[in-house]
Amino acid sequence: MKAAVLTAPERLELQEVPTPVAGDGEVLVKLEYCGICTLEQRLYTGAMKMPLPLIPGHEASGVVAASNKGPFGTIPEGTPVALDLVTRCGECYYCRTGQSNLCVNRFQNGRKVLGGFAEYIAVAAKQVFPLPAGLSLAEAAFAEPVACCIRSLKKAGLGLAEDLLVIGAGPMGLMHLLVAHCYGARVFVSDPDPARRAKAMELGAFLSLDPIAEDLPKAVKEHTEGRGADACVVTSPAHEALKSAVDSVSKNGRINIYTSYNDRPALPVDANTVHREQTLITGSEGRTEHDFLQAVRLLGFGKVRVAPLISACTSLAKLAEGLRAAMNPANYRVLLEHKAE
Ligand SMILES: [Zn+2]
Ligand SMILES: [Zn+2]
Repeated sequence: MKAAVLTAPERLELQEVPTPVAGDGEVLVKLEYCGICTLEQRLYTGAMKMPLPLIPGHEASGVVAASNKGPFGTIPEGTPVALDLVTRCGECYYCRTGQSNLCVNRFQNGRKVLGGFAEYIAVAAKQVFPLPAGLSLAEAAFAEPVACCIRSLKKAGLGLAEDLLVIGAGPMGLMHLLVAHCYGARVFVSDPDPARRAKAMELGAFLSLDPIAEDLPKAVKEHTEGRGADACVVTSPAHEALKSAVDSVSKNGRINIYTSYNDRPALPVDANTVHREQTLITGSEGRTEHDFLQAVRLLGFGKVRVAPLISACTSLAKLAEGLRAAMNPANYRVLLEHKAE
């Protein structure tokens, strides 16, 4: 089969590699779509390190090509599926306590990780999530990032019909917006880019705000009887975003830091304010199997409509180009589409 193999930073080679075979209890999946996420972009630029060579890609969907009988039955050939490709050990403390996003053995050398940038993949049956009827394979490639937003909003403790502020309207900010609507939330979105603000409004934001031209905390408070947002998700690594988040939430406000940083910014809040206002500042990364299942169901029920976030599709042969397109802030998600070969 063909696969895009990252051999060194900025070196993605289209290689002929052996087609995997489904081992005991494994499923062979013919891949159809794979999202190009920031993880792949960071691997490609070298900002994130993993043992190379490696086939990147972790937001994949496809069709079951062969199923090896596991102890609990098989998933029939031809079943359309979404794949959970960030493997967790299932044995460490975090895995055993329902916090597998914090698994200490993720991405370790010698483990099978990622692999979505190939024609086929063999995975454990537990990594395979059959799709509800009516969910397209292209949309199913969003199960993984949507699951990360579900984890993030759970960490932010978003309640029914609350006010949520999402800082940053890139693909992850906008997916937070879509998932928050499932909670009946009223969503404020902040981004300096007018095109992204327009996209947020198109996707049903209550208000989109320019954090440069406007006083973000003041604008949010004007619409919430002076209180501020009940919860806030920070998806932009800009340092000012942290200050805005702290100043824009209500008493008992919950802030989830979703973005990753290349530096280590300090939190712009004093302990007495946290004490008096019960401000909660937390973070989240990744998702659990439960979040993944909920993402597949929300997508399948038509509650989270991600099609407007697909900016372009690319092919295996043009993947390096696709990666660069994914890094262009004018684009949302770029998908690897195997049919495009
Ligand atoms: Zn991702
Ligand atoms: Zn683990």
